[in-house]
Amino acid sequence: MLAILTYHSIDDSGSVVSIAPRTFAEQMQALAEAGFRGISMREALAHRQANRRWPERCAVLTFDDGFANFYESAMPEIARHNFTATVFVISGHVEGRNDWDAPPAGLGSQRMLTWAQVKELAEQGIEIGAHTRTHPDLRRLSKPEIEAEITGCCSDISERIGQAVESFAYPYGYLNRQAEEVAQQEMTAACTTELCRADGEPLHLLPRVDMYYLQSPPQLLSLVAGKLDGYLKLRRWGRTARQIMLGRGR
Ligand SMILES: [Zn+2]
Repeated sequence: MLAILTYHSIDDSGSVVSIAPRTFAEQMQALAEAGFRGISMREALAHRQANRRWPERCAVLTFDDGFANFYESAMPEIARHNFTATVFVISGHVEGRNDWDAPPAGLGSQRMLTWAQVKELAEQGIEIGAHTRTHPDLRRLSKPEIEAEITGCCSDISERIGQAVESFAYPYGYLNRQAEEVAQQEMTAACTTELCRADGEPLHLLPRVDMYYLQSPPQLLSLVAGKLDGYLKLRRWGRTARQIMLGRGR
């Protein structure tokens, strides 16, 4: 099994999408000291294709949205340990700000990566994945609109970095049958926000663990060692029950 970790913004605001730079540095240090490598989705997929299973003693590091603070605060720590990662970029917001929605409390307006930074990261071995053009709730779009969001994002990115885009993350983790179909057709892999380690799931429905819930290095090490699988199952049940009570679908 493989822990795929979700990060968004690396900053000190304390918002629900933020991890403090110092905490992030401690997490990477803890992984390295425990003999784990942080890798990209692409590396995990290549290993799985070659060996028919996920790599051992690895954790996939994914960063949604493409905040500029990835370049400034996360990349130096990733490079320090010779790790890699995947950044899921919203192509229509590169060079812009996080204004696809009102930002979560405390986060405020944030700068996103520039294309020059995206290209430089790609050249340094960071995988650039797709996260749509405008970060919509894909469940509200028609199939052609979903295709335009996903394939458009991939072509925007590959034109800039000169590499094919293999991985995708569903905005907000929201998906329906149509979104699944497009992701399965167009991408090698797609990540949800289902809270558990990846095992034998279809590659277009890979679960990920949001690091907001597991910030301390000991919690992270328990996760990657598989000691939290039972706890995460309970948390998922709790979340599903809450959504049912609130009358929301998934
Ligand atoms: Zn997002």
